[in-house]
Amino acid sequence: MQKRFKRILLKIGGESLIGDRDYGIDPKAVLSTAEKIKAVYAKDVQIAIVIGGGNIFRGMSAAKNGIDRATADYMGMLATVMNGLALQDALDKVGVPVRLQAALQMPAVAESFIRNKAIRHMEKGRVVILSAGTGMPYVTTDSGASLHALELHCDVLMKATKVDGIYDKDPMQHKDAKRFKTMDFKTAIEMDDVQIMDTGALAMCKENDMPVMVFDLFEEGQLLKAIDGEDVGTYVSNQTKTVFA
Ligand code: UDP
Repeated sequence: MQKRFKRILLKIGGESLIGDRDYGIDPKAVLSTAEKIKAVYAKDVQIAIVIGGGNIFRGMSAAKNGIDRATADYMGMLATVMNGLALQDALDKVGVPVRLQAALQMPAVAESFIRNKAIRHMEKGRVVILSAGTGMPYVTTDSGASLHALELHCDVLMKATKVDGIYDKDPMQHKDAKRFKTMDFKTAIEMDDVQIMDTGALAMCKENDMPVMVFDLFEEGQLLKAIDGEDVGTYVSNQTKTVFA
């Protein structure tokens, strides 16, 4: 069978490392995330991961409580480096070759992000984790994910969420909510209330023709199925129409 994607940008939110806790990193959850990544890696897919930091620190929330927004955002970026270190450790433990890069300079803990080097890592069969988002405040790791997906020439930006795709209304609250199988970008961007990902990041993907796949990382096997082209999640692109599953 023809592989659907050869190189993916996987955006994982900090929530995937939190487990049953209210805050921080649960090593069991990190290991389980690493196992899911390993299953995809075993299919010979090149993987770049952008990791979030919301399980530890979100700039916007801290700014509401009085910390200068830019300072708070840099703190958020540091949180993503902590998550990156934890994920690097877990991938290493499950036997996946991995390198951690950071968009902020911190040579003692992570390589600095260098585009060519990140591509080389993937070509050599290493998963590369990209931490510290864009290295700039006032945005989130969704923007880091779309920028990196473009510059690393990924086939798709795979955005992990708690829900298995994009629905016409919140499936947690509405039993009759329907999942979209595919969507066009314009419709996805207009669905502000559904919170697919940051509108700016989505618009960047639209303008530069980078498809986005929204899927549920917590449901066993869904990432693998999405890679294999099975009907899971929602695929958003300039070439697809908005169709229910
Ligand atoms: N952040 C930032 N610039 C970036 C990426 C992240 O300022 O390019 C900060 C921002 O404060 C954000 C925090 O890092 O809230 C953690 O990232 P994010 O909220 O995207 O984490 P996720 O929701 O994916 O866990």
